[in-house]
Amino acid sequence: LSLSYAQIEKVWVMSHVAASLVHEVRNPLTVVKGFLTLIRENALSKDKIEKYIDISFDEMQRTESILSEYLSLSKPLIERRERIDLAHHLQTVLDVMSPYANMSNVRLDMQRPPEPLWIFANADEIKQMLVNFIKNAVEACSETAGGMVSIRLNTAAKHAAIAIKDNGVGMSQEQMSRLGAIYFSTKSSGTGLGLTFSYRVIRALGGSVSVRSEPKAGTEFLIKLPLMKAKADSSAT
Ligand code: ADP
Ligand code: MG
Repeated sequence: LSLSYAQIEKVWVMSHVAASLVHEVRNPLTVVKGFLTLIRENALSKDKIEKYIDISFDEMQRTESILSEYLSLSKPLIERRERIDLAHHLQTVLDVMSPYANMSNVRLDMQRPPEPLWIFANADEIKQMLVNFIKNAVEACSETAGGMVSIRLNTAAKHAAIAIKDNGVGMSQEQMSRLGAIYFSTKSSGTGLGLTFSYRVIRALGGSVSVRSEPKAGTEFLIKLPLMKAKADSSAT
């Protein structure tokens, strides 16, 4: 059995994220179980029953989509590229990562333009790349009171720009210079593979990464990915 380092890191990341998902899925289950008990005991008016069924339904649907997104993230990486909406995929990554952030007492905040941002890439690779940065950012501020990760998606000239900023432990110059190097990790149980994989994906797409960081203050990664040319038909009125 031979695994690439991207696969090893993925198994590792996904098992961490799974622990918080299990936690999160239990909440809606408890809520729905409570409603069902009340309904069985005939303790509710018809109006209330309908309202609770709606709430339960929404909760179940949300949980289901998070779980299926999680499963699609843990599939093996394929390399086929196609036209994909970066804004949409960033949103689904945030949905999957939010239980992990909650469990670490870190707030996730996202700002994005309402319209799709088209890039030419493989959706699974893009999502895994984003998971790696966001997971690092959450881990960096898990010990910070008021820990916060803010994610901004913008367009600049012919690029999509994703800024991932945290108010966590930050990095020294020396640490920054080693980012992306295989097995570089300062964590007691890190793999040092996440950024190696992510930097590779970004480079393969003709993008770039830059980083600003200050020890004890926080870190900001800026990822740029080439946008696809606007389609001729999109300007039709
Ligand atoms: P791992 O998370 O397993 O340590 P990564 O490749 O994801 O491996 O990250 C490598 C190292 O880069 C981390 O161990 C950490 O020292 C540093 N790093 C990455 N992101 C951040 C961040 N947002 N804040 C502080 N340090 C970071
Ligand atoms: Mg990592």
